[in-house]
Amino acid sequence: MQIETVSEAAIDRVQALDNVPCGILGEKEIATASDRAGAPCPVSGTVEDERRSGVHRWAKTKLMRARRKILLPGRKLGRRGLTLALNLIFPPLCVSCRARVSEAHSLCASCWSRVSFIEGSLCASCGTPFEVDPGDETICGACHARPRNFDRAWALLRYDDASKPLILAFKHGDRLDHAPAFARWLERTGRPLLNDAEILVPVPLHRWRLWRRRYNQAAVLAERLAQACGRPHEPLALERRRPTKSQGEMPSAKARRRNVLGAFRVPKGKIGAVKGRNVLIVDDVFTTGATLDACARALKRAGARRVDALALARVVRPLASDI
Ligand SMILES: [Zn+2]
Ligand SMILES: [Zn+2]
Repeated sequence: MQIETVSEAAIDRVQALDNVPCGILGEKEIATASDRAGAPCPVSGTVEDERRSGVHRWAKTKLMRARRKILLPGRKLGRRGLTLALNLIFPPLCVSCRARVSEAHSLCASCWSRVSFIEGSLCASCGTPFEVDPGDETICGACHARPRNFDRAWALLRYDDASKPLILAFKHGDRLDHAPAFARWLERTGRPLLNDAEILVPVPLHRWRLWRRRYNQAAVLAERLAQACGRPHEPLALERRRPTKSQGEMPSAKARRRNVLGAFRVPKGKIGAVKGRNVLIVDDVFTTGATLDACARALKRAGARRVDALALARVVRPLASDI
């Protein structure tokens, strides 16, 4: 009983403190709990009090503005100076060949000229580049033969001799310092997909592979991209329910599809996060699209409205080999 009395007294004190902002300007009375129930904040006091408080507020605003004018440029200059000093001690290096560059997390001119960005006319479904522009919304033969579960898939780079060392170092070589550059490029290239996306979901690794590798490169990319575009990142929205062999070991597109058939699912606890939403899957390399397709299938079965995919690089082969 005594404990209850003490608690009630404490609650009354807290409730009384809630009223302080109303009463403090004109030394108003503190309303009782019964007065407060649905009643507006009591207004009383003299005109002189109001005038004094108005002058006080005006002076305070002026002071704050003056302080901001003095401090903000100083802070910006300080930050710029610190960046310059750090650049002198640790000069920014090309993410590929380690040559000196002017901006951190970028490629030097020579590496930039070697990597091939995927551009021009693309398959409206899988993003395969066409040699001749067949017009908007055209899909390639592979997508005609076997419609994809994802709506659109885009990739940034051609997976070739120039981009391969960059991507393999990021994937297997702990070179997570590549992530800011990759995310920046992906954000520019994939802006239409990112604008439509409501959540970003990385292609998951099986828990044993994650344990061995210590990080999921797709999740690292997705996290950076989510920060850049201000969309939520759901790294656990997809689960790889069984270990699969590396897609690189599969001899054909058919074998790749079989390898990941039914390998992904949306865990029960994450169905609410994807149901009725536009999901963007993020991955590092897109070869035939079998993995992205299996992920998109799992997301659509869980109720996702639209599923797009954005990858760092893709293997560009003659179109017939994807069938
Ligand atoms: Zn370079
Ligand atoms: Zn296609």
